Amino acid sequence: MNGLMQEQPLLISSLLTHAERHHGDQQIVSRRVEGDLHRYSFRELAERARRVANAMAALGVGFGERVGTLAWNGYRHMELYYGVSGSGAVLHTLNPRLHPDQLLWIAEHAEDKVLCFDLSFLPLVEAVAPRARGIKAFVALTDRAHMPAASSIPGLLCYEELLEAASPDFDWPVFDEHHASSLCYTSGTTGHPKGALYSHRSTVLHTFAAALPDSLNCSARDTILPVVPMFHVNAWGLPYIACMVGAKLVFPGPFLEGRSLHELFESEGVTVSAGVPTVWQGLLAHVEANNLAFGTMRRTIIGGSACPPAMMRAFQERYDVQVLHAWGMTEISPLGTACTLKPRQLALPAEERYAVQAKQGRAVFGVDMKIVDEDGKALPWDGKTSGDLLVRGPWVIASYFKGEGGDPLADGWFPTGDVSTIDADGFMQITDRAKDVIKSGGEWIGSIDLENIAMAHPAVAMAACIAAHHPKWDERPLLVVVRKPGATLTREEMLAFFDGKIARWWTPDDVVFVDAIPLGATGKMQKNKLRDQFTDYRLPTA
Ligand code: ADP
Repeated sequence: MNGLMQEQPLLISSLLTHAERHHGDQQIVSRRVEGDLHRYSFRELAERARRVANAMAALGVGFGERVGTLAWNGYRHMELYYGVSGSGAVLHTLNPRLHPDQLLWIAEHAEDKVLCFDLSFLPLVEAVAPRARGIKAFVALTDRAHMPAASSIPGLLCYEELLEAASPDFDWPVFDEHHASSLCYTSGTTGHPKGALYSHRSTVLHTFAAALPDSLNCSARDTILPVVPMFHVNAWGLPYIACMVGAKLVFPGPFLEGRSLHELFESEGVTVSAGVPTVWQGLLAHVEANNLAFGTMRRTIIGGSACPPAMMRAFQERYDVQVLHAWGMTEISPLGTACTLKPRQLALPAEERYAVQAKQGRAVFGVDMKIVDEDGKALPWDGKTSGDLLVRGPWVIASYFKGEGGDPLADGWFPTGDVSTIDADGFMQITDRAKDVIKSGGEWIGSIDLENIAMAHPAVAMAACIAAHHPKWDERPLLVVVRKPGATLTREEMLAFFDGKIARWWTPDDVVFVDAIPLGATGKMQKNKLRDQFTDYRLPTA
């Protein structure tokens, strides 16, 4: 016997309709590429998103066709999020930090029909445009006054003019909730990038789950500033969450250095922020150097790579900003786990509490996870045994766009490529990405643990641990360190810092100091590049 409840597809447009009706006055504040602050309401967002839907139709974008964006976090990008997906087209967020050749490859693979871009990316778009034959229209996200005087892009369109010419009346169509809503390619360290194609259903379900108190904990009383880019897995879902709960949104545009962010946090009363650890380093350095504090910010969500415990301590003890460590992937929309402590853990002594917080956390409802050995056999949740992490759920990919790379699933589960433990409380901790694991004499050494320790040294700005070839042990850890400006630190001091903190055989065999560690398009350390750089490196122990 079926239940007797109404059938209503879960559609992204309903998030916007809800926000307009129930939180119409709530604000969206954006630092524009042009430099000034722009401010409007959810009501205006909704009206302009309807104009976007009409404008895209006028440009010939059909149901299910892709509209690419190369844009920072800002209100115009938000309008495209809703206007494009809401009308049944597919929003394809491109990562502007990629090489032009890679961008071109992705835009062609996605068959983008229109490309909307912030003015900061004009040179990039000009480099790509002559070869991007599938793109029928290029739209600069600005007004007439700021349009480039000359551009090599034929027929370059002005976003504000398009919107002005479009009607604000548009009825959001109702269609199958499984219809595709947005597309995001993973950077992929080998081979071509692969696309994760989200649906309206997966997005709305993810939004429900991600907003919950033990997930990202967002409400109408929050002011959210997503530093994580809208081109990186939909800014972890925050643009959707804000509409669902009616939170004020603050967008930093391209201004992501410590000073600009801190100014915006203070002037707009930001309560929650989110980003990768490398961004927070710049912010903390600025706050520290200038003896500042956080007036309203009470929580920050850190994910994308492991949050070093030293960073958690700085935020929590010095600035009273609670850190929420979270784990996710492009392929899982992205939220998988969040590290919200249970009551018993909250009562633990500080050291033990930090040990829990260093974990990536427990699965949010909707995500099922397990760890397995090489034969695919499930491993115990004892907090010690580590294995390959697999997940499944309604916002985990079933396959990549256009079936690229074949069937990615193993028995219905998505292998994440991460190696982790899970403890008896269900808290998952990443020890490594499978490809970054250091195998010494057949035993695994977790590079993240070593990096976390190194990062706690006051003279260390950044640290990466990679495998270096060793004739006896096959691989041994090599620590690559960037010193803080003006700080002194020797190899011996660095190595001594590991004493008593880990098993002796885990201690790196050597330390090399470099000026910078290469960062990828999403702000993560590119260990594959480091490994290339140090392929011929001879360890002193070899
Ligand atoms: P990419 O950066 O390769 O484009 P994603 O942004 O989807 O892809 O990155 C997903 C990966 O980032 C995860 O598989 C994991 O290795 C890493 N990651 C994400 N969050 C965390 C975290 N909190 N701690 C450690 N690693 C993380």
